[in-house]
Amino acid sequence: MNKVHNFSAGPAILPQSAIDASIQALQNFGGTGLSLIEVSHRGKEFEAVVAEACNLVKEILNLSADYEVIFLQGGASLQFDMIPMNFLTPGKTAAYVNTGVWASRAIKEAKMFGEVNVLASSEDKNFAYIPKDYSIPADAAYYHCTSNNTIYGTEMFSFPETNVPMICDMSSDIFSRPFDASKFDMIYAGAQKNMGPAGTTLVIIKKSLLEKANAKVPTMLNYKIHVENGSMYNTPSVFAIFVCMHTLRWIKEIGLTAMEARNKAKADLLYAEIDRNSLFTGTVAVEDRSRMNVNFVLTNPAHEEPFLKFCASRNLSGLKGHRSVGGLRASLYNALELESVQALVDAMQTYESQNA
Ligand SMILES: *Cc1c(COP(=O)(O)O)cnc(C)c1O
Repeated sequence: MNKVHNFSAGPAILPQSAIDASIQALQNFGGTGLSLIEVSHRGKEFEAVVAEACNLVKEILNLSADYEVIFLQGGASLQFDMIPMNFLTPGKTAAYVNTGVWASRAIKEAKMFGEVNVLASSEDKNFAYIPKDYSIPADAAYYHCTSNNTIYGTEMFSFPETNVPMICDMSSDIFSRPFDASKFDMIYAGAQKNMGPAGTTLVIIKKSLLEKANAKVPTMLNYKIHVENGSMYNTPSVFAIFVCMHTLRWIKEIGLTAMEARNKAKADLLYAEIDRNSLFTGTVAVEDRSRMNVNFVLTNPAHEEPFLKFCASRNLSGLKGHRSVGGLRASLYNALELESVQALVDAMQTYESQNA
């Protein structure tokens, strides 16, 4: 079979080494003679997987001993509820920035548990930019932002300075570049964009934030319980965590500095073609262009379907924009190679030569 270039926004492309290791482990996991999906999560072989995955997260992000790392279920979406349930303490207000669908959902859920102050929103321009002009009230319970807006293709390249606990949804750009994790009190990411398959969510929490948590939170939604039980309060997503562990090994081997250079090269190549090619236009503010999700449209919408078909015929997959925004979206997550972006750029140039 010819190589299919996978631009899917999520679940998304993973490193071949993680897929190969998974195939092997489905046959015979760690020499147990059993499949990965038929062993106890409490066996020493799988406990070693969870421990290594957590340690890799700590190493890659240079986390101090002040942080806990756990793997939960329920997707990034369950975090939208768990965060206010645990940290929106009575009498306090939580501060959110609305940068798109996922941020809006986080806000909607938080409002079920307490007072929410939406500090800024880019909804006026269909979320085509990152709002930067706002200040965070010093008495907020926490500040919540979304570092990469998967659906719209905008990314935060800097974060505000504040003494308020900072919580960030990094589902779609975690491990794509170096950043100062010590600025954050909590980071979370659904695995299926940049670090693994669907079924597990990485949560990194500072111990000082955990200490401030509400006392009465249902057990399965209580971060302290999951931390105390090392992600093993109940049966974790064994398979998903295994694939994350292998993806994290691959990320560590490359390193975040080289990963950023790789990701920048891919994004620069595609944005340059979007800006050059007469048939295509970018949809978001240039300074906020995401390196992970590149949103663009055909200047003539009648070309959209034919161009997507043309792409499919060249083994370029997953380019249709999210149903809420339309147009095209090329997701360039860590594991996507530059040659795949080059194949897309070649297709755009050929299509232009045939249709301009
Ligand atoms: C995909 C995504 C989500 C939702 O993730 P689920 O795991 O499907 O709940 C939340 N936030 C961001 C930024 C995303 O990209």
